Amino acid sequence: MTDVVAHEFFHIVTPLGVHSEDIHYFDYNNPTFSKHLWMYEGTTEYFANLFQINQGLIDAPDFYNRIMDKVSQAQRFDDTMSFTQMSAGIVEEPYQANYGNVYQKGALIGHNLRGYLGDSLFFNGVKQLLSQNKYGNLNANQFRDQLTAITGYNLNSFFDEGDEIVGYSSADDLIDKIRFYLSDEQERERIARNAYSRVMKDYRIGSLLHRAGAIIQEVSQ
Ligand SMILES: [Zn+2]
Repeated sequence: MTDVVAHEFFHIVTPLGVHSEDIHYFDYNNPTFSKHLWMYEGTTEYFANLFQINQGLIDAPDFYNRIMDKVSQAQRFDDTMSFTQMSAGIVEEPYQANYGNVYQKGALIGHNLRGYLGDSLFFNGVKQLLSQNKYGNLNANQFRDQLTAITGYNLNSFFDEGDEIVGYSSADDLIDKIRFYLSDEQERERIARNAYSRVMKDYRIGSLLHRAGAIIQEVSQ
């Protein structure tokens, strides 16, 4: 019971407090789903557990047991499925069958982000992100870019899935995608061109060295 209450209580923060444009301007006749479902359920679930430590309802070993339980529960779902793709397609298969993973791997994404940023950047970053966007809305890219700006950590992926690169989740999916892109020359060329621009913009040796220099400077301070 405490788990459920804690979880539902934290929905006050997200999605009630901060959410995506799709939720803010929700069209009940032609609903579209945002890439944020993992964030609403995952971070809510994660903070619902952190809160119980904070309030002395569970102790650290309990907390880590819960995290380990989420690791094993997450194995029951398709581990190769992109969480943003799944969130956006949640009312259809194969995404719908993986819905339960938003409470497992979704919470683990929060835990990983905390591990990646460290406690102080993570908690302060989340706090600032929330106050910056209180009762407002932001899209998936703004979420990533704002947290990147606040923490100073580059949280960008190397390439944007679906725009600059195309991935696959299984052999069947790979074959489907090959067939699709062989038949749709325009889409294939669009993605290839975007990938080329991204490489020229971010991954030429000059800009990589420049970034490496900035990191070296930062850690040697
Ligand atoms: Zn929930």
